[in-house]
Amino acid sequence: MSNKTVSIDVQKDLFGANKGAAISNADEFKKHGIHAFDVMGSVGSGKTLFIEALCEKMSGRYKILMVAGDLATRIDADRVASHGIDTVQINTGNACHLDARMVRFALKDVDLSKYELVFIENVGNLICPAGYSLGVEKRIVLLGITEGPYMVRKHPLTIKRADIIVINKIDLAEVLDFDVEALVSDVREVDSDLPVFLVSSKTGQGIDEVVHGLGL
Ligand code: MG
Ligand code: ZN
Repeated sequence: MSNKTVSIDVQKDLFGANKGAAISNADEFKKHGIHAFDVMGSVGSGKTLFIEALCEKMSGRYKILMVAGDLATRIDADRVASHGIDTVQINTGNACHLDARMVRFALKDVDLSKYELVFIENVGNLICPAGYSLGVEKRIVLLGITEGPYMVRKHPLTIKRADIIVINKIDLAEVLDFDVEALVSDVREVDSDLPVFLVSSKTGQGIDEVVHGLGL
């Protein structure tokens, strides 16, 4: 197994040429036949558990690399690594999102020919990650219902730039008396064509549908 940690000083890079790096990441992934996904969502939306659930489901069929973005620690990468998945932890220091250059830098010594799927867990934040494309195939935005009913209305741009919406922690909807339908219709307001999946990463509900929705 391979589990590495890369620390990045982003001060210099903050508003660098993200677009060029995103294109080069996309080229690298394509060259190796890799399907790559950017998983975005607030702190506590359940990104790591969601990735763990996807890995559990697919590690028999695909060779997976997980890339975790956090300001500090490798807690999330270690959780995913405990499933036998290779990981790269990017510690961004003070940057509240990943950008394409960080991903390129973190992957430069990784032998991508070993992998078929790459899940990138972005820094927990529903705002600025959407402004930085990483060169992935699809952007998955997670909304944990524990975050309250207004995530979509308060973050329309993030929703607009998503390819797939996952409403997570659906197992808690009843106990929280959460209006899931209202949240889905908020998404539909922003983009009527966006695929929306109701998921419990904990029970596994909806994970098969997400796998299908990712084209895997
Ligand atoms: Mg996490
Ligand atoms: Zn940021």
